Amino acid sequence: KAKEQGRNRCHYFTEDINEALLERLELEANLRYVIVRNQLILHYQPIYSLGTGDMIGFEALVRWRQRDGSLRMPGSFIPLAEEIGIIEDIDSWVLATACQEVANTLNERRGELRLALNISPKQLESPGYAEFVREQLSRNQLSPAQLELEITERVLVEDTQTTRENLEALGEMGVRLSIDDFGTGYSSLGYLQKYPFQTLKIDRSFVCNISGGESAQRLIETIITLAHGLGMEVVAEGIELEQEREFLASSGCDQGQGFMLAKPARLSQVLALLGAPAGE
Ligand code: C2E
Ligand code: MG
Ligand code: MG
Ligand code: MG
Repeated sequence: KAKEQGRNRCHYFTEDINEALLERLELEANLRYVIVRNQLILHYQPIYSLGTGDMIGFEALVRWRQRDGSLRMPGSFIPLAEEIGIIEDIDSWVLATACQEVANTLNERRGELRLALNISPKQLESPGYAEFVREQLSRNQLSPAQLELEITERVLVEDTQTTRENLEALGEMGVRLSIDDFGTGYSSLGYLQKYPFQTLKIDRSFVCNISGGESAQRLIETIITLAHGLGMEVVAEGIELEQEREFLASSGCDQGQGFMLAKPARLSQVLALLGAPAGE
């Protein structure tokens, strides 16, 4: 009987694997056409100064529109896009589209607002990337200082010649670089020193532990001190509670982002929030 059960389990197990495999293959096949089928859209999440409460910019976040109208979130397709080598196409589409969508607003409020977007560290390995960024900016009459590229710390930035050349060119141009999800990956003091980041984003996992007690709070204070010591601005991600906002503001964290302040939404909805205090 046990043997029979074992065989059955094995049978179901194989079926599960096949199903998962099929699902992945289908996802992969569809993902390859996501650009030509024009299925990506952008949401934007405001970033607020924790001192003044003013919106100082917004982060573009990609979503994949499905046939039934629902949106697939990036966590469930960006890693696959990285794996199958089409992340550069997606990130380039995001850069071009975001610059175009926000150009009018950013130009009307020159110096007040910036556009942040996420790039895969793989982008930096593609020769000519900095030049592509320059083109997109000038086509939309944006100044480089209005753009911030967020590079996640979860994926290692390969220390290649091309990467260094791109980073150098972007830096010379005046594009801002931000280290995203700080504390979740390859953070080392060397990493912070090696690359010219102007902004450090504290990962949500630290922020949601603030109410959990002293040690999470000390850790955040230490990160803020470290970043400021290196001349960086600090943004806290994932602020969901007033208590978290208060603690971060009183600890000298410069900026914040989170559902409590504003959720990611279409640009028109985000622009309707301009001039209003966070969270209203
Ligand atoms: P991220 O860059 O760290 O973006 C923040 C994520 O946290 C977003 O998820 C945002 O919706 C979510 N978030 C913001 N505030 C809160 C909060 O208060 N609570 C909670 N629970 N979540 C909050 P999203 O849009 O699903 O994006 C996930 C990740 O996908 C991003 O993390 C980023 O690493 C990646 N991603 C998004 N767009 C792009 C893109 O265009 N290119 C690349 N390469 N990666 C992208
Ligand atoms: Mg980000
Ligand atoms: Mg992040
Ligand atoms: Mg994150």
